[in-house]
Amino acid sequence: MVYNANEARYESMKYNRVGRSGLKLPAISLGLWHNFGGVNQYENGREMITKAFDLGITHFDLANNYGPPAGSAEEMFGKVLKNDLSPYRDELIISSKAGYQMWPGPYGEWGSRKYLISSADQSLKRLGLDYVDIFYSHRFDPETPLEETMMALDHLVRSGKALYVGVSNYTAEQTAEAVSILKALGTPMLIHQPSYSLLNRWIEGGLQDVLDDSGVGSIAFCPLAQGLLTNKYLHGIPDDSRAKSSSVFLNEENVTPETLRKVHALNQIAVARGQSLAQFALAWVLRGGKVTSALIGASRVSQIEENVKALENLDFTNEELARVETILGS
Ligand code: NDP
Repeated sequence: MVYNANEARYESMKYNRVGRSGLKLPAISLGLWHNFGGVNQYENGREMITKAFDLGITHFDLANNYGPPAGSAEEMFGKVLKNDLSPYRDELIISSKAGYQMWPGPYGEWGSRKYLISSADQSLKRLGLDYVDIFYSHRFDPETPLEETMMALDHLVRSGKALYVGVSNYTAEQTAEAVSILKALGTPMLIHQPSYSLLNRWIEGGLQDVLDDSGVGSIAFCPLAQGLLTNKYLHGIPDDSRAKSSSVFLNEENVTPETLRKVHALNQIAVARGQSLAQFALAWVLRGGKVTSALIGASRVSQIEENVKALENLDFTNEELARVETILGS
């Protein structure tokens, strides 16, 4: 069936400026780490991507290794772009990354110029694009001079293969250094992609301060703790969940009684606010405007529909915030 985008797609989404740049991102973005690979059903992935766009989600996040198999999520997204979204290319922010193991041998991972440029070229081919909007160094490489990694990012921008660049999983100190190298090269760092959620607050203080001071935006990955911060696990571990799937990143042992106790208590605040737990968790990540976008994953269209409704209530009372602190600290 021919896809025609919803004409009302810009009416309810919120768009936030990325740091001190000219770019805005939707408050909720969609990532293709799980559920969009060669092992997954193409039609389900296509429906999630087009529904997300219909809801105003203009940003889709990928990486060289997303699948499985590695590379297949980019191929899948490339196919949807070609068949359905090509008229809308200029309305989309598409990102990719390189840093983790992609091919065998000494040039298939980390942060060398050799790896980053080759990997970006491969990603563009799989996506069927001339350029990505954002290209990331996916992780800090302790063995490669940071100058080399940042010069590779700068080169990608200057050669027209990426419009903006960012880093992911870098500590506060590594980020501060990367910001200053990129600044000297004349290609400012646009954005940092860290993990961040109610259950994982490592960016508060250090990294968030560096980003604020440097005018760099942030997009929080795993804002739902891979599904733990949703209604999914409130009454056991369903068969159709990531924890029960073959994903090595979330398994049944991660769904501990300790976590579930906190999750149930947080859910009570969510219910009192008239939100689902997922909506509450996303609103909390976006509270106060420090995080530019919450980068969700999804396994079905209904989750995306539920999650964007988080934007209907982003305000918190001091009492609610204090209750959250008590629950998380207990
Ligand atoms: P989330 O924390 O948003 O978890 C998404 C999962 O939660 C879904 O796949 C689904 O799992 C479940 N879920 C989502 N919404 C609902 C809902 N409303 N009700 C019930 N369950 C729900 O994020 P991800 O872990 O998927 O990561 C998001 C993105 O972040 C990735 O796609 C990627 O782009 C990026 N990322 C980046 C990393 C990096 O190193 N830079 C590392 C990891 C992720 P289920 O399958 O059980 O239904």
